Amino acid sequence: MIQLIRGFKDVLPGEAELWQHIEQTAAALFTDFGFKEIRIPIMERTELFARSIGEDTDIVEKEMYTFPDRKGDLITLRPEATAGICRSYIQHKLYAADPVKKFYTIGPMFRRERPQKGRYRQFYQLDAEVFGSDSPYVDAQLIYMLKILFHRLGVTDIMAHINSLGCPECRPDFKDALLAYITGKEADLCADCRRRKDKNPLRVLDCKVPGCREAMASAPSILDHLCENCHVHFKTVQTALDNLETPFTIDKRLVRGLDYYTRTTFEMQTGSLGAQSAVAGGGRYDGLVKALGGPQIPATGFAIGFDRLAEIVAQAGKTYATDPDLYVAALGEAALPLVFAWISKLSETGIRAEMDFEGRSLKSQMKRADRLRAGHVLIVGDDEIEKKTAILRNMTTKAQDAVPFEGILEILRTRLGEKE
Ligand code: AMP
Repeated sequence: MIQLIRGFKDVLPGEAELWQHIEQTAAALFTDFGFKEIRIPIMERTELFARSIGEDTDIVEKEMYTFPDRKGDLITLRPEATAGICRSYIQHKLYAADPVKKFYTIGPMFRRERPQKGRYRQFYQLDAEVFGSDSPYVDAQLIYMLKILFHRLGVTDIMAHINSLGCPECRPDFKDALLAYITGKEADLCADCRRRKDKNPLRVLDCKVPGCREAMASAPSILDHLCENCHVHFKTVQTALDNLETPFTIDKRLVRGLDYYTRTTFEMQTGSLGAQSAVAGGGRYDGLVKALGGPQIPATGFAIGFDRLAEIVAQAGKTYATDPDLYVAALGEAALPLVFAWISKLSETGIRAEMDFEGRSLKSQMKRADRLRAGHVLIVGDDEIEKKTAILRNMTTKAQDAVPFEGILEILRTRLGEKE
């Protein structure tokens, strides 16, 4: 038997309804906040990710699915969506009439990480990006929108962790201070950090290896090195979040080691996930559009880990199954064509109707209706055909009554149409 690839997974019926529910809730909310959906390819030129995510990151160094296509061009399965959205924004000059654009997208990402609980090699992200504004209010709005999404999905155990990364004006000063702190501690760092520290000391702050975390425990804080503009920007994000009653904690260890990341950076964390506590991550990247060959246009955004979000929402125990509203038990040759037309017409108008095509006994059809968790069963046998009335049974209350054939579709639509 051929099995799926390690780190990949199927989303089976049962779980897929929950995924649809999350997608629909997010799409409706993001649309209300002015976001438009954008769909970008799953594969891009490798160079796009190398440039946007950075050559010396774990993702680019060891996690990308990269291969030459048949002509030898290097292509990569996208490890995240921001790079592709930026590429599209620049390529189609979406900034031309009005640079302010808000996009969201939902889809699979690929990273060859070590598979473990909550970590897959194909995983899904719900991604939102805002181009064309460097206002702190846009950052605050993204965090607020995330909070509202989680609340609508019944996830209230959620906390925004925020930090500022400064800008090209104040970050060099912080990098120097960080490098001075690291000097002399090299022996305590992992091999990756020893190699990366000179080029990018922020990566050391970001490293998850326990030895590195310990060595960096009392490292200088970027918040003590922000320039006046960045300081005011970060304060404004905080005041805006306070005004929106959105709780947050300042986490000075939250950094992203890439040069184009600027100012606000954030993560949404939950206690419901154990070790993999971050369910969304985001921040400002005012330098990326330019770094990818576009104009100097600021941007900010986030990515939600869809698989993790689905896991938390599933913990609430609510089912989103699409059980049949009606199961029609047809008994005998005469009933079949009649009933077949009924279930087809009912399904067409939004009543989920099923029937048995195999001519089984009433008993086994009732069992099947039970297994499918049908709300009602309609029984149509020779007797019913003769009397021109069917029997309708409510599978929850077990009450049953007769329904005349005359106008039966309308009667069923009225009686079954009011879904919870
Ligand atoms: P990142 O793009 O690394 O900032 O990740 C954003 C979010 O995507 C994280 O907070 C996770 O929830 C999720 N995520 C990242 N990598 C994986 C993975 N390998 N498997 C499942 N979810 C992931």
